[in-house]
Amino acid sequence: MEKFIPRLKKLKTLKKISLLLLLSSTMTLASIPIKNTPVPGGIAVIDFKTNHSNPKAFYRKVPLYVQHIKNDHWQALLGIPLMEKLGKKSITVKDFSNHIFEFEIKKHTYEEQHITLKGKKKKYVNPTDAHMQRIKKERLILSKPRMTFSTQTLADGAFTRPVDGPTTGAFGLKRFYNGQARRPHAGLDYAGNTGTAIKAPANGKVLLTGRYFFNGNAIFLDHGQGLVSVYIHLDKHLVKQGQSVKQGEIIGMVGQTGRATGPHLHWGIYLNRTAVNPNLLMGE
Ligand SMILES: [Zn+2]
Repeated sequence: MEKFIPRLKKLKTLKKISLLLLLSSTMTLASIPIKNTPVPGGIAVIDFKTNHSNPKAFYRKVPLYVQHIKNDHWQALLGIPLMEKLGKKSITVKDFSNHIFEFEIKKHTYEEQHITLKGKKKKYVNPTDAHMQRIKKERLILSKPRMTFSTQTLADGAFTRPVDGPTTGAFGLKRFYNGQARRPHAGLDYAGNTGTAIKAPANGKVLLTGRYFFNGNAIFLDHGQGLVSVYIHLDKHLVKQGQSVKQGEIIGMVGQTGRATGPHLHWGIYLNRTAVNPNLLMGE
């Protein structure tokens, strides 16, 4: 009898190993195909090779999105701020030791957009003191989702369009409201009638929903590793904080709440806390 005991143990171990292999193969996620766009508002794609199973990458100590391509080929994705200075920069890759990878941020010129707000909507250009108090409070709440870094990757392959409408406001536009310069456009605008369904462009988890002064009704989704998306000016949100969503699932409806001149969806993407052009995630 004694002789059989070790054999039984061995069988159990084998079963466990095959179960783990099965789990890991079904959980393999596709990488996001992204064109290297090392410009302000773009994404620098830094390729590297390693046999480490879980390499990490950092830019100024901020963790980056890292994806496995094939065999020993990996990529670090770095979102570059719209206001970033041009020139040579570097990231650190950590596997069995530290490695420095250099790259260069090149110039890109974004167009200007002039928007006129009339009547009641004028409050969004020169808010009252009471509104300013609300704006300051909300700024704190709204800064949190983009700081999120969850280690679990949820995005699986290229992003898809959240709505079908035409693009009415490109990413990065230098904006002027009633002639006054404001922050550049940190997302994409899609035209759409009020009530048009908004679909999750990738698998994710709902980080935050709420109604805010400038953004109106908003939803933030976490796609893992500092990749976060935001949907604003919604008529309604149909998801709750903490809920998991699948690519293509309806999360809300187009509206014109907050600082919007008409019904449209403003879609934003954050990578390493930085707003980047959403088109890049869709392989455009
Ligand atoms: Zn917008």
